[in-house]
Amino acid sequence: MRVLILGGTTEASELTRLLAADPRFDTTVSLAGRTANPKTQPVRTRIGGFGGADGLVDWLTLDATQAVVDATHPYADQISSNAVAACTRLAIPLASIIRPAWQPQPGDTWLTVGNAEAAADALGPKPRRVFLTLGRLELGAFASAPHHHYIARTIDPPGDVALPPDLRLLSGRGPFDRKAETALLEREKIDLLVSKNSGGAATYAKIEAARRLGIAVVMVARPPKPYGHTVESAEAAIAWLEQRLAHRTTSCSARGV
Ligand code: NAP
Repeated sequence: MRVLILGGTTEASELTRLLAADPRFDTTVSLAGRTANPKTQPVRTRIGGFGGADGLVDWLTLDATQAVVDATHPYADQISSNAVAACTRLAIPLASIIRPAWQPQPGDTWLTVGNAEAAADALGPKPRRVFLTLGRLELGAFASAPHHHYIARTIDPPGDVALPPDLRLLSGRGPFDRKAETALLEREKIDLLVSKNSGGAATYAKIEAARRLGIAVVMVARPPKPYGHTVESAEAAIAWLEQRLAHRTTSCSARGV
């Protein structure tokens, strides 16, 4: 069965690894091309946008894709919207791995806002020491609040994004551990953390560290993200693919093919 994984996440890498070892599936993974040195994938890999929903329809048709798994990040809403549109048009089954959101725990102080611009506003008029853990392209929103001191952690440098004047960059890719995150927040005397609600374990340590140190979190809410059949993990996506495969085999034998 020919499968396309829309990737760029831990779950996508896990699914890719599992499918690479399974001869029943002929798998391609697609990456947006946002990071300069993406991890090497053990299956056929394509990199870069498809050109909207129409471009994705063309690609799926040419590839003769038989099932799609959208394993993109909870904040990647455009590609998911395109996946739903293209798969609906071509009647290709689509599963979406939806990573459960983090829920506030006792001791957490979260202020939830709609986007990076609202997060910059929420930092307030008093100068603060802020740890930014958003994507590099979202850092520009904080140029409108230049009176704070920022530490920003990104995978790649932000390139030509206009940054606030007092910002120091750290480079890092998860998973992060709680001890190191606590030490970082203490060393940098951070008094506010800005985060997405990414869910999952790889980047949760900063939330635990903030709880432990009594640091408030400005949490950028998830965008509404269209989805197909929802599953929570790579293993559940495999189970769904196996069902699709069994369904196809049954229909083919019923038709005597
Ligand atoms: P987005 O806003 O949903 O997508 C913007 C455009 O990028 C899409 O319309 C599509 O271009 C292209 N694109 C996105 N994901 C793609 C993929 N897997 N393969 C091919 N093209 C893709 O996405 P985003 O928020 O920029 O995220 C880009 C990638 O980074 C995603 O794969 C996501 O899983 C990963 N990521 C995102 C975040 C985040 O916070 N947003 C965090 C970690 C990882 P066309 O319309 O031309 O096809």
